[in-house]
Amino acid sequence: MGHDIWFNGKLIPYEDATIHVLSHVVHYGTSVFEGIRCYNTEQGSAVFRLPEHMRRLLDSATIYRMPCPYDLEALQAATLETIASSGLASCYIRPVIFRGTGSMGVNPLNNTVDTFIAVWEWGAYLGPEALEAGVDVQVASWNRMAPNTLPAMAKAGGNYLNAGLVKMNAVLNGYVEGIMLSVDGYVAEGSGENLFLIRDGVLYTAPVSMSILPGITRDAVIRLARDRGYTVMEKQIPREALYVADELFFTGTAAEITPIRSVDKYTIGSGKRGPITKTLQEAFFDIIQGGNDPYGWLTPVPVTAPTEAVAAS
Ligand code: PMP
Repeated sequence: MGHDIWFNGKLIPYEDATIHVLSHVVHYGTSVFEGIRCYNTEQGSAVFRLPEHMRRLLDSATIYRMPCPYDLEALQAATLETIASSGLASCYIRPVIFRGTGSMGVNPLNNTVDTFIAVWEWGAYLGPEALEAGVDVQVASWNRMAPNTLPAMAKAGGNYLNAGLVKMNAVLNGYVEGIMLSVDGYVAEGSGENLFLIRDGVLYTAPVSMSILPGITRDAVIRLARDRGYTVMEKQIPREALYVADELFFTGTAAEITPIRSVDKYTIGSGKRGPITKTLQEAFFDIIQGGNDPYGWLTPVPVTAPTEAVAAS
């Protein structure tokens, strides 16, 4: 069975963490969430960029007018408590704030705002070999949402209806992932990853104005690249620039830094992970595996003394 889930302020057994079918979120997609990773680094278990993720969660809640009763500090403490109680050395962390019961109808203002945090074990998202060999992807036939339709900066449950269409089409067509274009045809991002393109030693990634999710791994990679002397430009990328790139890679909490070896059956570069991608992966893994943390991106999980098993009476 699963690990205890933190639900509205306390840890409860996995089986008890249920919601009513008339919860607003079931009907209208009114949830905001995060995906965060806790790594078993050489210096102990630590969460990658926990405050940044929780800040984005609260920003998403603000955008959707969901007053979350827990502030940044409370959400971080709750996350650490949930991980510690699971006993997992590494895990994926899923906090969700959603509109629960109250009234039925589109207006969520009279419905409860509920918060939970769940953790589970999770390996490489795009397959264990993908980090080295790279993945084969296609340009999606579905676009990323237009500006001023659904707020792309919010990581909201409803956004993933669009992402799910992209991912299903990709998988059914034999690809690992789809790359979405913006409404005006520029490269946006994957269904659950941001994208970087390298040409002549310069890194390019879509600006936030392309309706991308402002990824926290994207931000980390921009920093790691610039600190290694690379130029990184946030700018509009035409679709065909993908096909003539020297290197391409995805970034994301789940995907980490995953090289792309082909797009629409065009081979990217040499068809293998490129040298700059490798350099950035090494820098990233030195932090999340080695636990070397020059940027203060790791929040250690406090080690709790093992509690003695209480005999069932
Ligand atoms: N774009 C989308 C649509 C995503 O779902 C994700 C995963 N959260 C990302 C980008 C990458 O963001 P992050 O690096 O913060 O995980």
